[in-house]
Amino acid sequence: CGIVGYVGESKSIEVLMGGLGRLEYRGYDSAGIAVIDSDGHLATAKRSGKLAALTAELANHPINNGSTGIGHTRWATHGGPTDVNAHPHLGDNGKLALIHNGIIENFAPLRDELLAEGFTFESETDTEVAAVLLGREYQRTGDLSEAFRAIVGRLDGAFTLLAVHQDQPGVVVGARRNSPLVIGLGDGENFLGSDVAAFVEYTRRAVAIGQDQIVTISADAVTVTDFAGEPVEVEAFEVAWDA
Ligand code: GLU
Repeated sequence: CGIVGYVGESKSIEVLMGGLGRLEYRGYDSAGIAVIDSDGHLATAKRSGKLAALTAELANHPINNGSTGIGHTRWATHGGPTDVNAHPHLGDNGKLALIHNGIIENFAPLRDELLAEGFTFESETDTEVAAVLLGREYQRTGDLSEAFRAIVGRLDGAFTLLAVHQDQPGVVVGARRNSPLVIGLGDGENFLGSDVAAFVEYTRRAVAIGQDQIVTISADAVTVTDFAGEPVEVEAFEVAWDA
């Protein structure tokens, strides 16, 4: 339902939790984050209920703040609002984390295909199918944006997807179809959000990602391509925001 992504200085948890707080107005039933922590490991925390439950979980099981991360508030469509069904979902043996807004309509046949190959699932969500598929393609390509290009054509429905992989620290990759995604351009840091509320505290320079496009952000670069990998010119706008 709400999505935020960040690459920059070592304050990803602050940025993600702040962004999720500003996205609360959309409504949600669960929340979670994934961070490449200061040791270079993928660390995740997720809880059903309000953001306060996730804050409490982070107090009980602290994560060493890192410079890269993604955060999600979920409005359940497939699988009830439980801790296990909350996002992020994992792929590539727990090295990749994915969050998703929307619905992947053809998740059932994709899930059957992956089960037949020996992959397993922890949740009842449509989202985890995309996470496992992305992990399989990461193993093949060794690159998150390549892996995204390999899976987006196979997903029907509406999605904004963001992912991180611990073997590519310093990068967040996203893709969108029939669901919004916006880049926030910072100075030595960059942001992604389902809307500008996710990052407006930090920057008002933004780029709206077009239909069927893939975006890769690092601390000092932003690249947008179409689903085939062709570069797309982006145009920044200034967010008018009186909140
Ligand atoms: N379909 C996904 C789920 O049920 C994502 C829902 C959302 O947009 O928050 O987990």
